[in-house]
Amino acid sequence: MCEAKIDRRAALGALGLLASGAAAGALPGVQAAAAQPGDARSAFAPSDLGWDAEKGEYVLPPLPYAPDALEPHIDAATMEIHHGKHHAAYVAGLNRALAELARIRAGEGDAGLIKHWSRELAFHGGGHVNHCLFWLGMAPSGAGGGGQPGGALGQRLARDFGSFERFAAHFQAAAVGVEGSGWAWLVLDTISGRLWVQQMEKQQNLLVTGVVPLLGCDVWEHAYYLRHQNRRGDYVKAWMNVVNWAFVERLYERAI
Ligand code: FE
Repeated sequence: MCEAKIDRRAALGALGLLASGAAAGALPGVQAAAAQPGDARSAFAPSDLGWDAEKGEYVLPPLPYAPDALEPHIDAATMEIHHGKHHAAYVAGLNRALAELARIRAGEGDAGLIKHWSRELAFHGGGHVNHCLFWLGMAPSGAGGGGQPGGALGQRLARDFGSFERFAAHFQAAAVGVEGSGWAWLVLDTISGRLWVQQMEKQQNLLVTGVVPLLGCDVWEHAYYLRHQNRRGDYVKAWMNVVNWAFVERLYERAI
C-alpha cells in the first residue's frame, strides 16, 4: 500500500475515531513514512486503517505478520480465511454503505433506505476497525505476544482490576460469555479515566460512546472454529498468549 495515498485524518474521521483520545493523541507523533503495521510505535498508522484517498475508499490492510506466525495458538488457515475473506467482506460492505449513502445525498438513491445503509455502515465499519485493531493487537508468542503489560498500563490495570490476573480472568470470562457473535474489549473510559472490560455483540452493539478501545478479542466462530470448534474458552485462553501488549500500551499512552 502506498503511504502517500492515505489521508490519515480522513480515515480516522470517517470511522469516528478522530474524536477519541487514542486516535487524536496519536496524530502529532506519527511519522507516516516510518510507520510499519504492527509497530507499537506507530499505533493507528495510516495503513493500519486502510484508507486510500485517491480511490476514496477503504482497502484491506495486509496482515502485520505471516498467517502462520501465531501458531500454535491461532492456526494459519483461520488467519487466512479470517483476514482474506471475513475482514475483506467488511471492507467491501463499508465501502458499499458509504457509496449508497452518497448516492442518496445526490438524489440518486432511495432516501427511505438511509436507515438500512446507516445500519450497514455501523456493522461493516465496526467490523473493519475492529479487525484492524485485532491484527495489530496480536504478535507471535515469545516475539512480542503474550506475557503482561508493563509501564503505565500495567499499573492502571492493577489499580482498576486489582491485579493483572484479575483483569485477565474478567476479560476472558467476558469474551467467553458474549451471546452469539461479538467481542470482548479492554477500553479506557475517557470520563472517569478508568479501564473497563466490555462485551460487544456483532461488530458494534453494546459499546459505550466515548470509550477508547485498546484491546479486542474476536469471539465470532470464524475466529476459532477450525481449531477449537465449540470450545470458545480454549480459544480465548490460547489467544492470551499472542496479545501484543506493547501495542496496547502505546494505544493507552496515547489515549491518556
Ligand atoms: Fe472476525
